[in-house]
Amino acid sequence: MLSAKPKLPFNESLQPFQEQEDDALNKDIIVSVRSDAVRDPTYARVLADYQAALQRYIEEDRWKTYPFLASIETYSKCNAACDFCPYPQLGRKGELLSELLFEKIISDLADSNPLGPAMMMLSRVNEPFLDKRLFEFIQHIERQFPNVWMNHVSNGSPLNEANFDRLLASKRTSLLKISFNDHRQDRYEAVMKINYQNTLKNLRMIHAKKVAGEFWFPVRIGRVGDGSSDDLAFLGWVKREFPAFEPQVSPRFDWRGKVGSSTYEVPDLGCAQWFQLHLLANGRDAFCCTDSEGEAGIGNAKTHHVVHDIYNSSERLALRTNPGSRLGIRKCMSCAALA
Ligand code: SF4
Repeated sequence: MLSAKPKLPFNESLQPFQEQEDDALNKDIIVSVRSDAVRDPTYARVLADYQAALQRYIEEDRWKTYPFLASIETYSKCNAACDFCPYPQLGRKGELLSELLFEKIISDLADSNPLGPAMMMLSRVNEPFLDKRLFEFIQHIERQFPNVWMNHVSNGSPLNEANFDRLLASKRTSLLKISFNDHRQDRYEAVMKINYQNTLKNLRMIHAKKVAGEFWFPVRIGRVGDGSSDDLAFLGWVKREFPAFEPQVSPRFDWRGKVGSSTYEVPDLGCAQWFQLHLLANGRDAFCCTDSEGEAGIGNAKTHHVVHDIYNSSERLALRTNPGSRLGIRKCMSCAALA
């Protein structure tokens, strides 16, 4: 049995929209996705929580020059085509990160700090479990950085029992987030363009293992919200159907203008993304999690040291040395994401 929860780094607190679900259910409101949310007192609390979590990054000296979280996209492929995601229009579909480049990235991270980041992810604009090499990459990371925690994000469709059991062989998973988006079959298939029953079967299998105490890490079932009453209905459905999982409605953002438009005002805050490093399957660095093509990035892991040249480039270092409001940063001033 692996049901005991170990101590995790503080990034769990950077999930402001997940924390308010109980409020949403009790007060019959969804503050996280309404266009007028910024005037809602609960949303003000969300911003305050985000700022408090961000302050913890700022106050921890080691993250000034070394990423708290590093994400590596190993295969830019997804079997879904969600209407809130830039993947359907992605210009680099099907690109595969070579094993050599993966090892080079890990080596760059290790020679700057043998302990590695606190947190790693092997996804960006993709479905990570479509990469057959994923479990080998996870093992490689665990060998190199035995203390690292790994968060996994998936649409759940490739997470059949065989794949999930392979994931359970990893002892460093700290979170599995499944992007499920709608509890109604017709809407799910319209939004995601994948088979509802297949994913639902996987969720039931994973939930049974969770209830049986086969693993301790949280499983979060997420929806990218649209501000309608469907958000609330989704939260209620997850709680009823999968009581051992955590429901989450998160706000949509516009992926730097690539998908629709944001319904949020830009908060007068910094951003936790400034303390993270994101690498795409073609080796390019992404400025942050909203930079799906790496257009706002400044280098490539093929030719740049990912810590010295990218994370500690003068542009990125300045964000962390004198962290102020995103409103004063050209690449951030129109971004409302609280990522
Ligand atoms: S563009 Fe948005 S998500 Fe990206 S670093 Fe700036 S504020 Fe953060």
